[in-house]
Amino acid sequence: MKMPENAKCPSCGKGRLNPVDDILTNLEGYVFVEKGFRCATCGEEFVPEEEGQKTIEIARRLGLWGEPMKLYRKLVKTAKGILLRIPNDMQRNLGLKGNEEIAISKVGKKLVIDFSPD
Ligand SMILES: [Zn+2]
Repeated sequence: MKMPENAKCPSCGKGRLNPVDDILTNLEGYVFVEKGFRCATCGEEFVPEEEGQKTIEIARRLGLWGEPMKLYRKLVKTAKGILLRIPNDMQRNLGLKGNEEIAISKVGKKLVIDFSPD
């Protein structure tokens, strides 16, 4: 990481910037851990350009960046259980036939459906 030794905080102008590896960035409900610097005085955090770029790259790979396909749907309660209908536009986008094996995982308050589990 390119940051001069004993650099002063650009935010408060007083604090020393300490290298840290636990800066939390929230993106679409996912938390990314980034490396960077934190001011010892005001607590302001700075993420270097290349590290921020890495987060965007990972977010892209996860499909979280540039394609926010967020649709709101209601669950349907049936005698056999609760159904979640996959919206047509997502079905087309994912190329689903309707007989795929999927993996559902719980991440906090979210359900993540993996349509191509390995
Ligand atoms: Zn500061």
